[in-house]
Amino acid sequence: MKRATEALEEEDTVELPFLKDGDLFKEEFAPGKFLVYTRFNGQWFIHIREFGNAAGREYATKKGVCLTPGRLRTLRRNIESIDNLLSQLEMGVSYNVPAGRDDPLFKVHLGGAIFATVSENYYGVNLRRYFQPAAQNIRTLPTKNGIYLTCVQWNAFKVKLDQLYAECPELDKAIECFMSHDGNQMETFECRECTPFGYDCL
Ligand SMILES: [Zn+2]
Repeated sequence: MKRATEALEEEDTVELPFLKDGDLFKEEFAPGKFLVYTRFNGQWFIHIREFGNAAGREYATKKGVCLTPGRLRTLRRNIESIDNLLSQLEMGVSYNVPAGRDDPLFKVHLGGAIFATVSENYYGVNLRRYFQPAAQNIRTLPTKNGIYLTCVQWNAFKVKLDQLYAECPELDKAIECFMSHDGNQMETFECRECTPFGYDCL
C-alpha cells in the first residue's frame, strides 16, 4: 500500500510538458495514442502519448513519455531486442526465471529515469518513468507517468517511427547522452540524464 501511495505522489510532482498546435509531426498509431515531434522552450521533444478529448478540445494526458532525440535513439537501437523478445513470448518460450521475481524480462534506460520494459506478465511494451522512493533500501519503482503499448500498437508505432525518421532526418544525428561523456565514468555517474538515481539502476 505504501508503494502505491508513493507512486501517486510522484505522479503529481511530474510536470506535463506543454503541447501546442503546430507540431512538426503528429501521427495517431492507435486510437487516442500519438507520436508527436514538437518544440518546447527551444528544444525538440518526441512524445509518445495518449490524448483525451473534452468538449471537442484535445488535451495531452499523463499517459505517455517525453523523449529527447537522444532518448528516442536509444529506444530505436533497442527495437530489435524488444521484437525478438516479443516474438519469443508469442511462441510461448519458457524462461529461466528465478522464483518470486517481478522484474521485467527486458529493461532499458532511455534517459532521465524513463525506461522501456517488456514483462512476461503482458504481451507488449511499457514506456514509463521510474522513481526512487525516499527509503534508500527500496528499489526504483514505476510511476503512473507512462504508456503501455500492446504488441499490435507497438508494431503500428514502429511504422510511424520510421515515417518520423524519414521526414525528420536530423533525428538520426541525435547523440545519446552516455555517448557525450567520452567514456568518462565519473561524469556519466554525475549526469542526471544518464544516472538519475545516483547509481546504476539497471
Ligand atoms: Zn549523460
